[in-house]
Amino acid sequence: MDRARLQDTIIAVSTPPGIGGLGVLRLSGPDSLAIARHLFVPAKTITGSFPSRTAVFGKVVDGGTGRVLDEAFMTFFPAPRSYTREDVVEISCHGSPAVLEETVRLGVAAGAKPALPGEFTLRAYFRGRIDILQAEAVQSLIQAETLEQAQAAIGQVRGSLSRSVSRLREKLVDLMARIEAGIEFSDEVNAGSGPEIRNLILDGRETAGKLAASYETGRAIRDGIRVAIAGRPNVGKSTLFNALLGRERAIVTPYPGTTRDFLSERLAVGGTNIVLTDMAGLAKARDPLEGEGVKRGRVLADEADGILLILDASRPDTEDDRRLVEGFRGRKLILLFNKIDLPVKIGRRRILSLLPGATHLDVSALRGDGVGELKEIMSGVFAPGRKFSEDVVLHLRQKLLLEEIERALGRALERLDSGFSDEITAEEVRAALDHVGRLTGEVASDEILDAVFGRFCVGK
Ligand code: GDP
Repeated sequence: MDRARLQDTIIAVSTPPGIGGLGVLRLSGPDSLAIARHLFVPAKTITGSFPSRTAVFGKVVDGGTGRVLDEAFMTFFPAPRSYTREDVVEISCHGSPAVLEETVRLGVAAGAKPALPGEFTLRAYFRGRIDILQAEAVQSLIQAETLEQAQAAIGQVRGSLSRSVSRLREKLVDLMARIEAGIEFSDEVNAGSGPEIRNLILDGRETAGKLAASYETGRAIRDGIRVAIAGRPNVGKSTLFNALLGRERAIVTPYPGTTRDFLSERLAVGGTNIVLTDMAGLAKARDPLEGEGVKRGRVLADEADGILLILDASRPDTEDDRRLVEGFRGRKLILLFNKIDLPVKIGRRRILSLLPGATHLDVSALRGDGVGELKEIMSGVFAPGRKFSEDVVLHLRQKLLLEEIERALGRALERLDSGFSDEITAEEVRAALDHVGRLTGEVASDEILDAVFGRFCVGK
C-alpha cells in the first residue's frame, strides 16, 4: 500500500458480507462528501453546508438514471474528527448485498477507489491518529472470540499499550541524552556511566522483559490454554475428554488404542478458554497408523501448556506406567487417578513419589466423579498468576520486538559493566530505541504494513 493513494477517496462496504439488518458503506478521503452527494439525496433540502456528525435521512439514488436504490441515513464526519482523520462519510442502508454493491459501483463511477483490506485503519495510522500497536489492537478487537480478549483489545485501541511503550521510549531517550551529555562534556558534566545510567538501563530492560513475557497470557487469552490429555491406552482419556466437554465427542471403546487421531475442542472454564486435546495413548504402537499417532501425541504433549496425565487406578502400576510418569517430570500437569469407582489397585504413593509436589486428583471419568473439581483447578494449575491487564501483548510481532529491546539493553548493561566507553554503550541503547520505533510503527517498512494491515478485512 503506498502513500500516493492518500490523495484518493476510497469506498467500501464496512459491514460483513451477506444479508443483514443494516449495511454500512464508508468513504474516506478529500472527495468523500462530494462523491457521497452523487449517491445520496437528503429527504429535506439542505441549505448551506452539510451537517457534520449528524445522521441525515434520505435516499440512495443512481444519479445517472435517477433510480432510487434504497432509503438510508448518511453521516458526515469532517476531518480531522473521524476514524481516519480524513473526511469520512458513512451511509447506512438496508442490508441487501446487491444494493450495497451497486452503491459502491456508483461511488467508484463518481471517482472513488475501492478500498484495500484495512485501508481505513491504515489511513488512521498514516494520518497519525493511531500507532501500529493500536492498529493491531483494532484487528484483535474485530476478531475477539471471548469478552476477555475484546477487553484487552479495546484497552489497547484506546492506547494503553502505546502509552506503556511510549513511557519506555521516553526513558530510553532520557538515557541517550545522559550518555551523550557524558560523552560530549565528559570533562564538565558528571553524567557518564554512574549508577543512575545503570539503573535506567536496568529499568528499561525490566519493562521490556515484563511486556514481552505478558505474551504468554496474551496468547492464552487469544487462543486458550492448551491442555493435552495423556496416558496409556485404555486408561479413560476419551471418556474424560467427553466428561469435560459434557458430550459424546471422542469414540470410547473397551479396546486399547482406538484414539488414533486427535480431537481438539474448546472449553470455557471460569472465563478461561481451554483447548483440550485428546490424543493417542502414549505407549508402544501396534500398527504403523497408530505409531504415527503416538509420535504426534508426544509432540502435542510437548507443546501443551498443561497436561492431564491419566492413570488407571483399578490396575496395579507397571514399569511402563512409572516410566511414563517420570517422563513428565517438570511439566505443568495434573495427575489423575481414574476409574476410582472400581477397587483401587494402583500404588498411589509410589507414583506420587515420582512426581513430588504434583497436583493430583481421584476421578471417575465414567461416572463424572471429580470432573467438576478438575475443571475448577485447571486454570489455576496451568495458567497460574494470570492477571487480567490491558497491557498484555497479543501479537507475536510485538513480543519479538520487545525481546530485541530487552536483549539490546542487556548488552548495553554488559558493556557498561565491563568498562567499555559510553559511546559503545550508547550504540546498544540506540538499537533498543530503533526497535521501539518499529514496535509503535514510527519506523515501518512496507513489509510490516502489509503484514499488519493485510490481515484486515476490506472496509475496516
Ligand atoms: P482411552 O484409550 O484412554 O481413550 O480410554 P477410553 O476412554 O476409550 O476408555 C477405555 C475403557 O475404560 C472404556 O471401556 C471406558 O468405558 C472405561 N472407563 C473409562 N473411564 C472409566 C472410569 O472412570 N471407570 C470405569 N469403571 N471405567 C472407565
